This record gives sequence, C-alpha cells and structure tokens, in this order.
Amino acid sequence: MRILETREELKEYCSSISDISLGFVPSLGGLHAGHVSLIERSLKENEATIVSLFLNPTQFNDKSDLEKYPKNDTEDLQVLKDLSVDTVFLPTSQTMYPHGEVLSIIENSFSKILCGAKRPGHFEGVLTIVLKLLNLMKPDKIYMGEKDYQQASLIKAMIDDLFIDTEIVFCPTVRESSGLALSSRNKRLSPEGRARASKLYEIITQEISLESMDSELSKEGFEVDYLEMWNKRLFVAAYLEGVRLIDNVMK
Ligand code: AMP
Repeated sequence: MRILETREELKEYCSSISDISLGFVPSLGGLHAGHVSLIERSLKENEATIVSLFLNPTQFNDKSDLEKYPKNDTEDLQVLKDLSVDTVFLPTSQTMYPHGEVLSIIENSFSKILCGAKRPGHFEGVLTIVLKLLNLMKPDKIYMGEKDYQQASLIKAMIDDLFIDTEIVFCPTVRESSGLALSSRNKRLSPEGRARASKLYEIITQEISLESMDSELSKEGFEVDYLEMWNKRLFVAAYLEGVRLIDNVMK
C-alpha cells in the first residue's frame, strides 16, 4: 500500500494515473464498517482508490471533541491494507494549512441550519478541507456517507456551484443490528451507553410527533441538540454521556 504524506507526492501520483478512474474517500480516521462500505464501493467502481486520513482541526468548533477523537493511524492503516486499498493520503496540518486558516469556503444557506447552527464554523472547515483535497487529487468520484447527510449535501452543492469535475456518490448509513448508526464517536460510550444509544434510531423511526420523540429521547437520557424535519427527512443530534450522536431518516 502506497502511503503519501506531502502535497507534491499526491499531485505527482494523481497525474501519473490520470488515464484511469480514481475514487476518493475522505475520512477523519477511527475507521469502522461505515467507512469500509464507502471504500469497498470505491474499490468496486474505480481502477484506483485513495483514502485520506486527516483529523481536520478546522472543522472542530469544540476543541475537547478534537482531543478526544478516537483515532489510531496504525489500526486504520491495517484496516486499509486488509481491504487492499492502493493509496492512503496521510498529511499533517502544516501540509494542508501551510498558511494557517487564512481562507475558507462559506456556504450561506443549508450550512446555517441543523448541525451548522449548533456547530458554528464546522461546515466551513469541512468544505475547505474537501475542496483542498479535491484540488490536489482531481478524482472522478468522491464517496460520502448519508449518516452525515447535511455534510454530503453541502459537498454536492459546492461541487455543483464551483464547477468541480467530480461526481459525488451518496452511500447508505451502515448500522449495528440494534439500529445504532456506526460512528467513530460510539467508541467513547460506556457499554451501557452504547446499548442505550440504539434508542435514538428506534425513537426517530416511530410514527409519532416530533414533540413525543423529543420527550421519549429525554426519558431515555439523551440531551436533544435538535430534532427537525427538512425536505422529508428527519435530522437529529443528541448528547449521551457527553458524546454527540447524529442520525437522519427519510419520513
Ligand atoms: P468521518 O471519518 O467521520 O469524516 O467519515 C468519513 C466518511 O464516512 C463520511 O462521508 C461519513 O459520512 C462516512 N460515514 C461515517 N459513518 C458512517 C456510517 N455509519 N455509514 C455510512 N457512512 C458513514
């Protein structure tokens, strides 16, 4: 497996394979079966696949969330090796932000509601890092998870609006058998918390009013950050044991 660390290495490699199809899966690390589903889809649909592992500091408005993020490069690289991923991009912050945070991408509509309203600056950080990565790689396709539906939609909007030559592929949310959406942050829950966390999906898939869902969630010990319908989809963010969980379902 090829591990690239600098922008120059990445650009040089990508131009050397410009005649074959390239799929790209961006990740913060802490890989689990949700990430694996995106990577497997890219491996199937493209001749080459690059996975990036970069815990992007600019998308963390809460610095303690960044510090506690469960990421382990050695374990992640082993997962990628086992999947026969050809190339991993593992940059440092200095590599991705050589001039610091002097410039960022701002979306003025959908990024201002739901997670955008609760995590100021979060989507600016996401859009900026994804644009930087797309500029370096120029992939044919980028694979994003529906678990982070607002994020994937905003990246789609950026691609459309900035005329970027990359197709975005939305991939379905991978869940535990309990219904809990897989997330790197689930690792921070206690065994009891993890069992309780599955109530989130159970409650939002019920045919009851938003008010009833809200009170059911509170009864189960969740601190609801938001619970809102947008475009026939129900979005939720809630804290359990101090861990922020998000999910969304079509209604
Ligand atoms: P992250 O490392 O959290 O930035 O996630 C990298 C990509 O994996 C994003 O496109 C996420 O939406 C996607 N992803 C994370 N969890 C899941 C999941 N449970 N099912 C499907 N995709 C996921």
